[in-house]
Amino acid sequence: MSLSVRIEREKRTVGIMIAMYCKHKHNSQQNLCAECMELTEFANTRIDKCIFQEDKPVCSECEVHCYRKDMRDKIKQVMRFAGPRMMYQHPILGIRHLIDKRRFKYIDPKVYRSLKKQDNQ
Ligand SMILES: [Zn+2]
Repeated sequence: MSLSVRIEREKRTVGIMIAMYCKHKHNSQQNLCAECMELTEFANTRIDKCIFQEDKPVCSECEVHCYRKDMRDKIKQVMRFAGPRMMYQHPILGIRHLIDKRRFKYIDPKVYRSLKKQDNQ
């Protein structure tokens, strides 16, 4: 597996989930509404900058809260809405997402603190 596969998949999954959410909740047609567009860009940037890269857990399970509070609330709503629907509409990505979700959930506190520090710089 090349280094970017996991990251690319995460971006694709998040993008699809936001699109589903926007279509249902905001009645968007072809394009996302401005709010969801911003959320997508934000999520992609966070994924690119994710310190775990290939070992990345899914964002919702991650111990490092790199999302800004308002964005985190939005993405949570999106996940809650689109998560179950992924299994029907995009079963492969949905299953991969569940597998990714099972990845490590525990981070060494020492590592966590040093990450926190980096984050604040
Ligand atoms: Zn929207």
